Amino acid sequence: MGGTPLPDGIKLIDENGKRLDGRRPDELRPLKIEAGALKRANGSAYLEWGNNKVMAAVYGPRECHPRHMQDPTKALVQCHYNMASFSVDDRKRPGPDRRSQEISKITSEALTHVVFTEYFPKTSIDVYIEVLQANAGTRCAGLTAASVALADAGIPMRDLVASCAAGKIDDTVVLDLGKEEDNFGQADIPVGYIPRDDEIVLLQMDGDLTADQFKTGLNMAIEACKKIYDVQRDALKRKYTLPAGKTDEGGGVN
Ligand code: ADP
Repeated sequence: MGGTPLPDGIKLIDENGKRLDGRRPDELRPLKIEAGALKRANGSAYLEWGNNKVMAAVYGPRECHPRHMQDPTKALVQCHYNMASFSVDDRKRPGPDRRSQEISKITSEALTHVVFTEYFPKTSIDVYIEVLQANAGTRCAGLTAASVALADAGIPMRDLVASCAAGKIDDTVVLDLGKEEDNFGQADIPVGYIPRDDEIVLLQMDGDLTADQFKTGLNMAIEACKKIYDVQRDALKRKYTLPAGKTDEGGGVN
């Protein structure tokens, strides 16, 4: 991020307005979600979004440990985002780092907005997000998968959170940055959105944008979240309407 020039004068957008992977500026990478991919978790979801592969698992509501963290009035939604060592080209050092702590925090905050935490005082709802393959946009992928996993666990929620980023490359506002676009682009705006209430529960910005570009990017991300929301709902509908013994093959966009 930050406008670094691409090697050998390669352009992120060509003269026909197409991006490196052939997408139009407002086009999402292909997205597939499968609800209930894990047997042992109370709820789970597996998601493939472009070259991102993410598993989310939910445990709880269960007794909150350590006890001093318990809230007598509501449940804590605790997210644990982790990128596997093999998820990126260079081996990632295992274990938590500042980035994973930040993503865990913002994901917990976004999900706390939708869960009826007051129904489960003193408990913890643990949400594990494991990135198996990373290719930019993993915080949005993780939040999108985690919402489906929470619903699959039967946790009472106001709605699902859908998440997608917009950004700026070659001075053009685009949707859903890929890896090269994230590395060599000028800005990234991850958004978490609740369609039913038309409410934003996550908004971050990295890079430089004018006020107009920011508005365009935000609107683009919100429109994309509405499509992602349909894919999330479809995943849940498939899981709960498929005949016994039939396995889900993942629906999706594109
Ligand atoms: P997001 O995945 O939400 O876009 P970042 O903007 O921080 O979050 O990261 C962009 C991308 O950079 C990641 O999706 C991943 O492909 C890559 N990346 C992040 N951390 C590392 C790391 N420690 N080693 C190698 N690649 C990384």
